[in-house]
Amino acid sequence: MSQSNCVFCKIIRGELPAKKVAETANLLAFRDINPQAPVHILIVPKKHFQNLAEVGESEKEILGEIILLAKKIAQQEGIEKTGYRVLTNTGANAGQIVPHLHFHLLGGKKLGGIG
Ligand code: AMP
Ligand code: ZN
Repeated sequence: MSQSNCVFCKIIRGELPAKKVAETANLLAFRDINPQAPVHILIVPKKHFQNLAEVGESEKEILGEIILLAKKIAQQEGIEKTGYRVLTNTGANAGQIVPHLHFHLLGGKKLGGIG
């Protein structure tokens, strides 16, 4: 289910470098190349989905794993107490650039309002 031209699939296959922070059977987490906060980490499923609009009931478990891994990484990064944000951009109006489902974990500073 990996896609040959997808940048995150390439990272998952080891064809592009990334600063990995966590890996599980189903997920990879790595630092965003253009960080918008002192902590800016992307959490991606190893299986390719374009975005949240493309996942269904059968992905319930992996979506839960993503959120729980974000929480665990927030603890590791020492931002649990100061606060953090977990978000996923879905489609054009949200400004999604990379068409492989990913959740941003942002923290380490006071974040601006959303939207
Ligand atoms: P978006 O699709 O708007 O949710 O955001 C895509 C994110 O992926 C941006 O924050 C980019 O900086 C980040 N990004 C794009 N290419 C890479 C890469 N090769 N390694 C790490 N982060 C990347
Ligand atoms: Zn992909």
